[in-house]
Amino acid sequence: MLNRLIVLVTLCIVLGPVSHAADDQLPTFFPNTEVLAADEMRITALGTGLPTPLTRVQKSTSWMVELGNGDVFLFDIGTGSMENLFGLRPDFSRIDKVFLSHLHTDHFGDLDAFYVGSWLSGRYTPLHVYGATGETPELGTRAAVEAVMKAVAWDTKSRTGILPDLGGKVVIHEFDYRKENQVVYEERGVKISSWPAIHSLDGSVSYRLEWNGLSFVFGGDTRPNRWFIKYAVDADFVIHECFPTPEGLARFNQWEMRPSTFVSSYIHTPPEGFGKVMSAVRPRMAVAYHTVLLPDIYQGMLEAIRKTYDGPLTIATDLTVWNVSKDKIVTRAAVFPDRVTPPPTTEAFKKAPRSGEAKMSDYIMDGVWEGFTPPPLPEN
Ligand SMILES: [Zn+2]
Ligand SMILES: [Zn+2]
Repeated sequence: MLNRLIVLVTLCIVLGPVSHAADDQLPTFFPNTEVLAADEMRITALGTGLPTPLTRVQKSTSWMVELGNGDVFLFDIGTGSMENLFGLRPDFSRIDKVFLSHLHTDHFGDLDAFYVGSWLSGRYTPLHVYGATGETPELGTRAAVEAVMKAVAWDTKSRTGILPDLGGKVVIHEFDYRKENQVVYEERGVKISSWPAIHSLDGSVSYRLEWNGLSFVFGGDTRPNRWFIKYAVDADFVIHECFPTPEGLARFNQWEMRPSTFVSSYIHTPPEGFGKVMSAVRPRMAVAYHTVLLPDIYQGMLEAIRKTYDGPLTIATDLTVWNVSKDKIVTRAAVFPDRVTPPPTTEAFKKAPRSGEAKMSDYIMDGVWEGFTPPPLPEN
């Protein structure tokens, strides 16, 4: 830790603008203790890591964007990220929109956990999932999300009558991955557009959210691509992946240099590429994620980024939080206890219609043991 701090301080002196991983140096954000201003955007990193290893401190990709108008958007929902979302104890009645960049599990593997957990904890309206087509219908978002819903059929049916009917529905919004800068969402003054990314198979995309004169860009996994440079340019807050260097990946995964170079630099973006992208896009804050924040890899990553980019930078870790307004960007680190209770639910959740009843067969019910009598069921 001390070594890492010395490296960071040295690099800050040598290279100028602050580059921070949140857990070392940032002021604290205590969730649910401040009201977002009407003209402000708050962004929370719910997952900044890779599919392997999933660690307690770095889950797979997910980002939450909260707006001063009350809207909340999730961008990706990678494996493990929901632990961080639940730890924040948000009002789940407001979180019903997820935008997927692509269908690697480190970007949508917690969709089932979010679907069920948010329904149990306050969501009483359908979950809307936005994502792209694939090269064939079975490789698209619709097919993937329908398959997830089939996999959780038992889970969904078991909650019949106990949870709000509409919370058990999912609405899929699939759009053509090939279209440049197409508007995929436009409501309540919020516009979200998408464009293609270059990553493993056709179908990875990036998003730009515009609201109230502020702009947020979320880059899905990609090697540097010309669409990103064109459509992310001059946005206020820009997130782009920053993979380990080929050498770092070879050391980390104990791979040969050829597959390490291919994965790092041909289907992902290594740190020098990230820096070049950000130098072209010129955001008010550049955010690197999809990282391995082991000290030796971190050091090489930061040095490589600073060879090609000298602007404002955060190397994000899980639970880094940014408040973005027209005049400033404040970066903090959210903290919460390891064990939390579910957040309060709303009156609307409690009163939302519930119909039907999950039933078991006479065969199973015949197995009830008479040695225990449950308390009588209240009227409601
Ligand atoms: Zn991917
Ligand atoms: Zn990924």
